[in-house]
Amino acid sequence: MAQIIDGKALAAEIRQQLKTRVEALVDKGHRPALAVILVGDDPASQVYVRNKIRACAETGIESLEFRMPAETSQETLLSKIDELNRDDKVDGILVQMPVPKHIDSMKVIDAISPLKDVDGFHVVSAGALMTGQKGFLPCTPYGVMKLLEKAGCDLTGKHAVVVGRSNIVGKPQAMLLLSKHATVTVAHSRTADLGAVTRQADVLIAAVGRAKLIKADMVKPGAVVIDVGMNRDENGKLCGDVDFETVKDVAGAITPVPGGVGPMTIAMLLTNTVEAVERRFGIDHA
Ligand code: NAP
Repeated sequence: MAQIIDGKALAAEIRQQLKTRVEALVDKGHRPALAVILVGDDPASQVYVRNKIRACAETGIESLEFRMPAETSQETLLSKIDELNRDDKVDGILVQMPVPKHIDSMKVIDAISPLKDVDGFHVVSAGALMTGQKGFLPCTPYGVMKLLEKAGCDLTGKHAVVVGRSNIVGKPQAMLLLSKHATVTVAHSRTADLGAVTRQADVLIAAVGRAKLIKADMVKPGAVVIDVGMNRDENGKLCGDVDFETVKDVAGAITPVPGGVGPMTIAMLLTNTVEAVERRFGIDHA
């Protein structure tokens, strides 16, 4: 049976270390503050926002919550972001996605100052990642890299396969793996014979959004499998993109859902927020 990579424990460890960094900042008069904007009343988004705000509180980060009705115009949202960009008390800005359909999410993301882009979705952050410059890393792929590191996975020369090519997970994940010297393949919905591709992976990252898509016969024995997916199975139970019960007998190491990537995403959001303050004041935490 595979080693279970415990994201919940690693996230708790990271949050504990962040607490110390936050205390040091508070001593200097700079308590980190994260502004969270939620437009509309999508129940899943409300849960995500609540979890993020709770995690901020536990770490000593101040959170400023802005709830806007579903019919909020794009102009109103952009002017709120502009106000927060100019607010010296705000270190990070997050707009919970998805926004209602009449709002262009790309315009929203790019309205956030790159200096406060703690979600790491801004085109400047994406460009920085692509060119190996300092920026904010998108939280989920950043968390996956921390999980791989914790599992003792040396990526140099390994074949990493990422299933999914979204701007927030798949593509940045591929760039991060590349920066650690893996040979990277990105698969997606038009990939012919997905199993033939995934079976080549020493490291397999599933970021698809299809419950239990990755079966045991699609995994190379001993592979490290990271499951980003968050889906509901036929019984309404939370599950990943990987068929955990069968894949765990083939893989060398695997993340569970829940308790794998999910808690890491929030931990990395907090990390980026603390980073934003440290960069602003030129403080080196190491
Ligand atoms: P997304 O934007 O919908 O992208 C899904 C990707 O999967 C697309 O690139 C799509 O290909 C590909 N795909 C769809 N069906 C496929 C198939 N049958 N075979 C191969 N590839 C297929 O989703 P996302 O935002 O990246 O999220 C992916 C999953 O991760 C979701 O379950 C989401 O809930 C979860 N997630 C979890 C966290 C966390 O913190 N744990 C954070 C973010 C996302 P095309 O490009 O060809 O359409």
